[in-house]
Amino acid sequence: LMQLSVPLNFIGFIYREIRQALTDIEQMFDLLHVKAEIVDRSDATALVVKEGTVIFDNVHFAYDANRPILKGVSFEVPAGKTVAIVGPSGAGKSTISRLLFRFYDVQGGSVKIDGQDVRDVTQSSLRSAIGMVPQDTVLFNDTISYNIRYGRVDASEADVQRAAELAQIGSFIERLPEGYKTMVGERGLKLSGGEKQRVAIARTILKAPPILMLDEATSALDTQTEQEIQSALDLVSQGRTTLVIAHRLSTVISADEIIVLQDGQIAERGRHVDLLDAGGLYAAMWDRQREATEAEERLRRAREED
Ligand code: ATP
Repeated sequence: LMQLSVPLNFIGFIYREIRQALTDIEQMFDLLHVKAEIVDRSDATALVVKEGTVIFDNVHFAYDANRPILKGVSFEVPAGKTVAIVGPSGAGKSTISRLLFRFYDVQGGSVKIDGQDVRDVTQSSLRSAIGMVPQDTVLFNDTISYNIRYGRVDASEADVQRAAELAQIGSFIERLPEGYKTMVGERGLKLSGGEKQRVAIARTILKAPPILMLDEATSALDTQTEQEIQSALDLVSQGRTTLVIAHRLSTVISADEIIVLQDGQIAERGRHVDLLDAGGLYAAMWDRQREATEAEERLRRAREED
Protein backbone atom coordinates (compact mmCIF):
# COMPACT_ATOMS: atom_id res chain seq x y z
CA LEU A 1 0.00 0.00 0.00
CA MET A 2 2.91 2.31 0.85
CA GLN A 3 4.23 1.79 -2.63
CA LEU A 4 0.95 3.00 -4.06
CA SER A 5 0.37 5.92 -1.72
CA VAL A 6 3.59 7.71 -2.62
CA PRO A 7 2.78 8.02 -6.35
CA LEU A 8 -0.83 8.85 -5.50
CA ASN A 9 0.28 11.67 -3.22
CA PHE A 10 2.57 12.85 -5.93
CA ILE A 11 -0.24 12.85 -8.49
CA GLY A 12 -2.34 14.85 -6.02
CA PHE A 13 0.48 17.33 -5.64
CA ILE A 14 0.89 17.69 -9.41
CA TYR A 15 -2.85 18.08 -9.82
CA ARG A 16 -2.98 20.91 -7.26
CA GLU A 17 0.02 22.61 -8.85
CA ILE A 18 -1.55 22.48 -12.30
CA ARG A 19 -4.84 23.75 -10.99
CA GLN A 20 -3.12 26.68 -9.29
CA ALA A 21 -1.17 27.41 -12.45
CA LEU A 22 -4.38 27.44 -14.46
CA THR A 23 -6.03 29.75 -11.93
CA ASP A 24 -3.05 32.08 -12.20
CA ILE A 25 -3.23 32.09 -15.99
CA GLU A 26 -6.98 32.69 -15.94
CA GLN A 27 -6.55 35.54 -13.50
CA MET A 28 -3.77 36.99 -15.59
CA PHE A 29 -5.89 36.88 -18.75
CA ASP A 30 -8.82 38.32 -16.90
CA LEU A 31 -6.66 41.07 -15.46
CA LEU A 32 -5.21 41.96 -18.82
CA HIS A 33 -8.52 41.56 -20.69
CA VAL A 34 -6.45 39.67 -23.24
CA LYS A 35 -8.15 39.07 -26.51
CA ALA A 36 -6.83 36.04 -28.35
CA GLU A 37 -7.58 37.49 -31.79
CA ILE A 38 -4.87 40.14 -31.49
CA VAL A 39 -1.80 38.65 -33.14
CA ASP A 40 1.60 40.05 -34.06
CA ARG A 41 2.14 40.99 -37.68
CA SER A 42 4.51 38.57 -39.38
CA ASP A 43 7.00 41.43 -39.80
CA ALA A 44 6.45 42.93 -36.33
CA THR A 45 9.55 44.45 -34.76
CA ALA A 46 10.38 45.10 -31.14
CA LEU A 47 9.19 48.45 -29.81
CA VAL A 48 12.09 50.83 -29.29
CA VAL A 49 11.40 53.34 -26.54
CA LYS A 50 13.77 56.30 -26.71
CA GLU A 51 11.76 58.98 -24.96
CA GLY A 52 8.39 57.40 -24.30
CA THR A 53 5.97 59.80 -25.99
CA VAL A 54 2.46 58.36 -26.28
CA ILE A 55 0.09 59.64 -28.95
CA PHE A 56 -3.58 58.86 -29.54
CA ASP A 57 -4.37 60.25 -32.98
CA ASN A 58 -8.05 60.55 -33.91
CA VAL A 59 -8.84 57.18 -32.33
CA HIS A 60 -12.17 55.54 -33.12
CA PHE A 61 -13.14 52.38 -31.32
CA ALA A 62 -16.17 50.17 -30.64
CA TYR A 63 -16.47 46.78 -28.93
CA ASP A 64 -19.63 46.21 -30.96
CA ALA A 65 -19.82 47.80 -34.39
CA ASN A 66 -23.16 49.45 -33.67
CA ARG A 67 -22.08 51.11 -30.41
CA PRO A 68 -19.12 53.47 -30.77
CA ILE A 69 -17.15 54.00 -27.55
CA LEU A 70 -14.37 56.37 -28.66
CA LYS A 71 -15.24 58.86 -31.38
CA GLY A 72 -12.11 60.63 -32.59
CA VAL A 73 -9.98 60.96 -29.47
CA SER A 74 -6.62 62.75 -29.85
CA PHE A 75 -4.10 63.55 -27.17
CA GLU A 76 -0.41 63.32 -26.43
CA VAL A 77 1.41 62.29 -23.29
CA PRO A 78 4.82 63.94 -23.74
CA ALA A 79 7.81 61.94 -22.51
CA GLY A 80 8.06 62.01 -18.74
CA LYS A 81 4.78 63.93 -18.27
CA THR A 82 1.54 62.92 -16.60
CA VAL A 83 -1.84 63.06 -18.29
CA ALA A 84 -4.96 62.30 -16.27
CA ILE A 85 -8.15 61.02 -17.83
CA VAL A 86 -11.36 61.79 -15.98
CA GLY A 87 -15.01 61.52 -16.86
CA PRO A 88 -18.27 59.88 -15.93
CA SER A 89 -18.60 56.12 -15.57
CA GLY A 90 -18.75 54.40 -18.94
CA ALA A 91 -17.14 57.33 -20.79
CA GLY A 92 -14.39 55.07 -22.16
CA LYS A 93 -11.50 55.73 -19.76
CA SER A 94 -10.44 52.10 -19.23
CA THR A 95 -10.90 51.49 -22.95
CA ILE A 96 -8.08 53.97 -23.57
CA SER A 97 -5.75 51.94 -21.35
CA ARG A 98 -6.72 48.71 -23.15
CA LEU A 99 -5.94 50.29 -26.51
CA LEU A 100 -2.54 51.45 -25.31
CA PHE A 101 -1.75 47.83 -24.39
CA ARG A 102 -3.30 46.75 -27.69
CA PHE A 103 -5.75 44.33 -26.14
CA TYR A 104 -7.98 45.56 -28.95
CA ASP A 105 -7.22 47.24 -32.26
CA VAL A 106 -8.54 50.68 -33.06
CA GLN A 107 -11.01 50.96 -35.94
CA GLY A 108 -9.81 54.39 -36.98
CA GLY A 109 -6.79 56.56 -36.22
CA SER A 110 -3.77 55.21 -34.38
CA VAL A 111 -1.99 54.73 -31.08
CA LYS A 112 1.74 55.41 -31.25
CA ILE A 113 4.68 55.20 -28.90
CA ASP A 114 7.70 57.22 -30.03
CA GLY A 115 6.26 57.22 -33.53
CA GLN A 116 5.71 53.46 -33.70
CA ASP A 117 2.17 52.25 -34.23
CA VAL A 118 1.31 49.68 -31.56
CA ARG A 119 -0.02 47.41 -34.34
CA ASP A 120 3.44 47.22 -35.92
CA VAL A 121 5.39 46.07 -32.87
CA THR A 122 5.47 42.76 -31.02
CA GLN A 123 2.98 42.51 -28.19
CA SER A 124 5.63 41.22 -25.82
CA SER A 125 7.87 44.26 -26.39
CA LEU A 126 4.87 46.59 -26.06
CA ARG A 127 3.74 45.06 -22.78
CA SER A 128 7.17 44.99 -21.28
CA ALA A 129 7.51 48.75 -21.94
CA ILE A 130 4.34 49.60 -20.02
CA GLY A 131 3.88 49.16 -16.29
CA MET A 132 0.32 48.79 -15.12
CA VAL A 133 -0.95 49.57 -11.65
CA PRO A 134 -4.51 48.30 -11.87
CA GLN A 135 -7.43 49.24 -9.67
CA ASP A 136 -7.68 45.76 -8.28
CA THR A 137 -4.50 43.74 -8.30
CA VAL A 138 -4.75 40.00 -8.66
CA LEU A 139 -2.47 38.30 -6.15
CA PHE A 140 -1.09 34.84 -6.76
CA ASN A 141 -1.50 32.17 -4.13
CA ASP A 142 2.10 32.42 -3.12
CA THR A 143 4.34 34.44 -0.81
CA ILE A 144 4.21 38.22 -0.76
CA SER A 145 7.82 38.20 -1.92
CA TYR A 146 6.87 36.11 -4.99
CA ASN A 147 4.02 38.50 -5.71
CA ILE A 148 6.33 41.51 -5.74
CA ARG A 149 9.11 39.73 -7.65
CA TYR A 150 6.60 39.07 -10.42
CA GLY A 151 7.57 42.55 -11.69
CA ARG A 152 11.08 41.27 -12.49
CA VAL A 153 11.61 37.59 -11.88
CA ASP A 154 15.39 37.82 -11.58
CA ALA A 155 15.26 40.47 -8.85
CA SER A 156 17.18 39.68 -5.67
CA GLU A 157 15.48 39.49 -2.29
CA ALA A 158 17.15 42.82 -1.41
CA ASP A 159 15.65 44.43 -4.54
CA VAL A 160 12.23 43.07 -3.61
CA GLN A 161 12.48 44.56 -0.13
CA ARG A 162 13.71 47.91 -1.41
CA ALA A 163 10.81 48.08 -3.87
CA ALA A 164 8.39 47.25 -1.05
CA GLU A 165 9.82 50.03 1.07
CA LEU A 166 9.58 52.56 -1.77
CA ALA A 167 5.98 51.46 -2.31
CA GLN A 168 5.26 52.16 1.38
CA ILE A 169 4.40 48.56 2.14
CA GLY A 170 7.75 47.44 3.59
CA SER A 171 7.02 48.07 7.26
CA PHE A 172 3.59 46.44 6.94
CA ILE A 173 5.24 43.28 5.56
CA GLU A 174 7.94 43.27 8.22
CA ARG A 175 5.33 43.32 10.96
CA LEU A 176 3.74 40.11 9.61
CA PRO A 177 4.83 37.04 11.61
CA GLU A 178 6.30 35.39 8.52
CA GLY A 179 7.38 38.64 6.88
CA TYR A 180 8.08 38.36 3.15
CA LYS A 181 7.35 34.62 3.28
CA THR A 182 3.72 35.23 4.27
CA MET A 183 1.31 33.48 1.92
CA VAL A 184 -1.21 35.84 0.34
CA GLY A 185 -4.01 35.48 -2.18
CA GLU A 186 -7.22 33.53 -1.96
CA ARG A 187 -5.77 30.86 0.31
CA GLY A 188 -3.49 33.09 2.31
CA LEU A 189 -3.61 36.44 4.04
CA LYS A 190 -6.24 38.68 2.49
CA LEU A 191 -4.87 42.12 1.80
CA SER A 192 -6.96 45.28 1.71
CA GLY A 193 -7.48 47.19 -1.54
CA GLY A 194 -4.86 49.77 -0.55
CA GLU A 195 -2.33 47.09 0.42
CA LYS A 196 -2.86 45.23 -2.83
CA GLN A 197 -2.37 48.43 -4.77
CA ARG A 198 0.93 49.01 -2.98
CA VAL A 199 2.03 45.47 -3.90
CA ALA A 200 1.26 46.41 -7.52
CA ILE A 201 3.31 49.60 -7.12
CA ALA A 202 6.23 47.59 -5.71
CA ARG A 203 6.01 45.23 -8.72
CA THR A 204 6.09 48.22 -11.04
CA ILE A 205 9.06 49.76 -9.23
CA LEU A 206 10.94 46.49 -9.88
CA LYS A 207 9.87 46.39 -13.51
CA ALA A 208 10.95 50.06 -14.01
CA PRO A 209 9.04 50.54 -17.28
CA PRO A 210 9.45 53.76 -19.33
CA ILE A 211 5.65 54.14 -19.56
CA LEU A 212 3.22 53.87 -16.70
CA MET A 213 -0.50 53.27 -16.73
CA LEU A 214 -2.33 53.84 -13.47
CA ASP A 215 -5.93 52.97 -12.81
CA GLU A 216 -6.79 54.56 -9.50
CA ALA A 217 -9.19 52.86 -7.13
CA THR A 218 -12.66 54.38 -7.12
CA SER A 219 -13.38 53.11 -3.65
CA ALA A 220 -12.74 55.58 -0.87
CA LEU A 221 -9.43 55.13 0.92
CA ASP A 222 -8.76 56.68 4.30
CA THR A 223 -6.63 59.82 4.19
CA GLN A 224 -3.54 58.11 5.60
CA THR A 225 -3.66 55.26 3.04
CA GLU A 226 -4.37 57.69 0.23
CA GLN A 227 -1.34 59.78 1.19
CA GLU A 228 0.88 56.71 1.38
CA ILE A 229 -0.27 55.48 -2.01
CA GLN A 230 0.05 58.93 -3.52
CA SER A 231 3.64 59.34 -2.38
CA ALA A 232 4.49 55.86 -3.67
CA LEU A 233 2.92 56.73 -7.02
CA ASP A 234 4.67 60.10 -7.21
CA LEU A 235 7.92 58.28 -6.75
CA VAL A 236 7.29 55.62 -9.38
CA SER A 237 5.92 58.10 -11.95
CA GLN A 238 8.86 60.50 -11.65
CA GLY A 239 10.50 60.89 -15.05
CA ARG A 240 8.15 58.31 -16.61
CA THR A 241 5.44 58.95 -19.16
CA THR A 242 2.31 58.42 -17.10
CA LEU A 243 -1.27 57.99 -18.17
CA VAL A 244 -3.64 57.85 -15.25
CA ILE A 245 -7.32 57.08 -15.01
CA ALA A 246 -7.89 59.45 -12.17
CA HIS A 247 -10.45 59.41 -9.44
CA ARG A 248 -8.59 61.35 -6.79
CA LEU A 249 -8.22 65.07 -6.52
CA SER A 250 -4.56 64.83 -5.52
CA THR A 251 -3.56 63.16 -8.81
CA VAL A 252 -5.38 65.52 -11.13
CA ILE A 253 -4.21 68.67 -9.35
CA SER A 254 -0.60 67.88 -10.26
CA ALA A 255 -1.24 66.41 -13.73
CA ASP A 256 0.37 68.21 -16.69
CA GLU A 257 -2.89 67.84 -18.59
CA ILE A 258 -6.36 66.63 -17.70
CA ILE A 259 -8.54 65.10 -20.39
CA VAL A 260 -12.25 65.14 -19.62
CA LEU A 261 -13.90 62.34 -21.54
CA GLN A 262 -17.62 62.28 -22.10
CA ASP A 263 -19.57 60.02 -24.44
CA GLY A 264 -16.38 58.91 -26.17
CA GLN A 265 -15.16 62.42 -26.94
CA ILE A 266 -12.91 64.93 -25.24
CA ALA A 267 -15.28 67.45 -23.71
CA GLU A 268 -12.66 69.61 -21.99
CA ARG A 269 -8.90 69.59 -21.54
CA GLY A 270 -6.34 71.60 -19.62
CA ARG A 271 -4.76 71.97 -16.23
CA HIS A 272 -6.71 71.75 -13.00
CA VAL A 273 -6.94 75.48 -12.24
CA ASP A 274 -7.88 76.38 -15.81
CA LEU A 275 -10.63 73.78 -15.90
CA LEU A 276 -11.97 74.96 -12.55
CA ASP A 277 -12.00 78.52 -13.87
CA ALA A 278 -13.85 77.38 -16.98
CA GLY A 279 -16.71 76.29 -14.71
CA GLY A 280 -17.79 73.42 -16.96
CA LEU A 281 -18.15 69.67 -16.61
CA TYR A 282 -14.84 69.25 -14.78
CA ALA A 283 -15.60 71.98 -12.25
CA ALA A 284 -18.99 70.41 -11.54
CA MET A 285 -17.43 66.94 -11.15
CA TRP A 286 -14.87 68.08 -8.62
CA ASP A 287 -17.35 70.14 -6.66
CA ARG A 288 -19.36 66.97 -6.20
CA GLN A 289 -16.26 64.95 -5.34
CA ARG A 290 -15.06 67.55 -2.84
CA GLU A 291 -18.45 67.59 -1.12
CA ALA A 292 -18.45 63.79 -0.92
CA THR A 293 -14.91 63.70 0.48
CA GLU A 294 -15.68 66.37 3.06
CA ALA A 295 -18.81 64.57 4.16
CA GLU A 296 -16.80 61.35 4.57
CA GLU A 297 -14.11 63.15 6.57
CA ARG A 298 -16.72 64.69 8.88
CA LEU A 299 -18.26 61.27 9.42
CA ARG A 300 -14.89 59.72 10.18
CA ARG A 301 -13.95 62.48 12.63
CA ALA A 302 -17.31 62.15 14.38
CA ARG A 303 -16.71 58.42 14.73
CA GLU A 304 -13.22 58.94 16.09
CA GLU A 305 -14.51 61.40 18.68
CA ASP A 306 -17.11 58.91 19.92
P1 ATP B 1 -15.73 53.41 -15.25
O1 ATP B 1 -15.32 54.75 -14.72
O2 ATP B 1 -17.09 53.03 -14.80
O3 ATP B 1 -14.71 52.34 -15.06
P2 ATP B 1 -14.91 53.84 -18.03
O4 ATP B 1 -14.98 55.26 -18.45
O5 ATP B 1 -13.58 53.29 -17.70
O6 ATP B 1 -15.95 53.59 -16.85
P3 ATP B 1 -14.97 51.77 -20.06
O7 ATP B 1 -14.64 50.63 -19.18
O8 ATP B 1 -13.91 52.27 -20.95
O9 ATP B 1 -15.57 52.99 -19.21
O10 ATP B 1 -16.24 51.36 -20.89
C1 ATP B 1 -16.82 52.22 -21.87
C2 ATP B 1 -18.06 51.55 -22.43
O11 ATP B 1 -17.69 50.37 -23.12
C3 ATP B 1 -19.06 51.12 -21.37
O12 ATP B 1 -20.35 51.49 -21.79
C4 ATP B 1 -18.92 49.63 -21.30
O13 ATP B 1 -20.16 49.04 -21.05
C5 ATP B 1 -18.43 49.26 -22.67
N1 ATP B 1 -17.53 48.08 -22.59
C6 ATP B 1 -16.43 47.97 -21.82
N2 ATP B 1 -15.82 46.78 -22.04
C7 ATP B 1 -16.55 46.13 -22.96
C8 ATP B 1 -16.44 44.85 -23.61
N3 ATP B 1 -15.42 44.01 -23.33
N4 ATP B 1 -17.40 44.51 -24.49
C9 ATP B 1 -18.41 45.36 -24.79
N5 ATP B 1 -18.58 46.58 -24.23
C10 ATP B 1 -17.66 46.96 -23.32
